[in-house]
Amino acid sequence: MNFLVADDELLIRKSLVRAFQSRGHQCDEAQNGIEALKKISTNTYHAILLDVIMPDKNGYEVLLEMKKNIPVFIISAFTGDDTNISYIQNDPRVKDYIAKPFEHILEVVDQVLGKL
Ligand SMILES: [Mg+2]
Repeated sequence: MNFLVADDELLIRKSLVRAFQSRGHQCDEAQNGIEALKKISTNTYHAILLDVIMPDKNGYEVLLEMKKNIPVFIISAFTGDDTNISYIQNDPRVKDYIAKPFEHILEVVDQVLGKL
């Protein structure tokens, strides 16, 4: 399968890409919302891992603007003061929430794979 990891934190992004690859999957990466939207429009993904707080369009804006019906897994350090969270919760494409920081990166990938 082919995945997209959109997160502005380099270490998280690279770790997730490597973890998907170690499970035999392809994985693209985007370091901000604009890059994520570009890749979503030009590629076919089975799921997107989407950070909420990113520069150049945040995860909320990416969800609003992406027209494709692709499963989305929100990866975020939920602080409780995110006013956009209710919108995200009401988007039927959002399959799960994965809280940062991750303890075991492969468990995150297996959690995603298990819900597809
Ligand atoms: Mg971030």
